[in-house]
Amino acid sequence: MVDRAGGPHASGMANHKTVSRRAAHGAVAGSVVALGCGGNQESSAKTPNGSGGGASTGGGGGSGGAAGGGSGGAAGGGGAAGGGGTAGSGGALAECKAQGPTPGCKVTDDNILGPFYKADTPFRSDITEGSAGTALRVRGTVYGCDCQTPLAGAVVDVWQANDAGAYDNAGFVLRGRVKTDAQGRYEVTTILPGLYLNGSTYRPRHVHYKVSHAEGVSLTTQLYFEGDPWIASDAFVKPSLIRPLVESVGAGGKKQYDVTFDVVLTGS
Ligand code: FE
Repeated sequence: MVDRAGGPHASGMANHKTVSRRAAHGAVAGSVVALGCGGNQESSAKTPNGSGGGASTGGGGGSGGAAGGGSGGAAGGGGAAGGGGTAGSGGALAECKAQGPTPGCKVTDDNILGPFYKADTPFRSDITEGSAGTALRVRGTVYGCDCQTPLAGAVVDVWQANDAGAYDNAGFVLRGRVKTDAQGRYEVTTILPGLYLNGSTYRPRHVHYKVSHAEGVSLTTQLYFEGDPWIASDAFVKPSLIRPLVESVGAGGKKQYDVTFDVVLTGS
C-alpha cells in the first residue's frame, strides 16, 4: 500500500552549492547542496492548479515556525527534587524531569507523527533494502536537556517515503531503528526521501523520527533539508528542524548526501 504516489523525482534537479552557515551542534561545514528544483515537477500527479513552483499557495503558511523560541528559560525552581539518575544518562534525564531544560539549551522541536508510522521496525542502520535513489547518510547525537550529556542507548526510529514519494506500509522498506552508542551517536544509511502530495502542494522532503530513551522520554519529530522549495508552502515545517545537505562521495565513487541531525530530548 502506498500513500500518495507520483511525486517528482529527486534526480535531474539542478543542484547548486552554497556555503553552510548553520552550525547546529557541530554540523559539518562544507559545500552544501541546495534542493532547488524550481519548476521541475511533473504534472503527472493530481495537482489541481498545476503548481509549477508557485509557493504562494497559502496553505496554512509556515506558522508554527516561530514557536519553541525560549525553551523554558528560567523554568521550574526545581529544588533538590529529582531522584537518582538511571544508567544511560548519568542522571541528566532525571534532572530534566525535575527542572526542565537547562537555561539556554534549546530542546528539539516536535513535529507531527503523520499517518504512516509503524511500530516494531527492525533494528538496523541501513534501511534502504535496495531502494533506488540518491544515497543519504544521516548522523547525529542524542543529548539530554542540558544540551551536553550524550544519551547512550536512546532508540532512534526513522521512516520515510521512497524516491517516488511512497511509504512502504506493507513491509519495512525505508523504516528502521538504531540505538545510540556510548557517545550518544547514531547513523542511518538511506536515500533522499521523495516528495508526495498533501492536498494541493507537495510536502517537502523529510525523514520522520521517534526518539526515545529507557528513562521514559520520547520525541516525535521530522528532519527537513535546507533549500527545499516546498518548505515555504508546507503547513508543518518548523525552521529549527531544517538542516543543510552536504554532498560527498560515497561507496564506489557515487555521489551521496550527508546530513547531521542532533536531537535534544526533554524530560517528559
Ligand atoms: Fe511523511
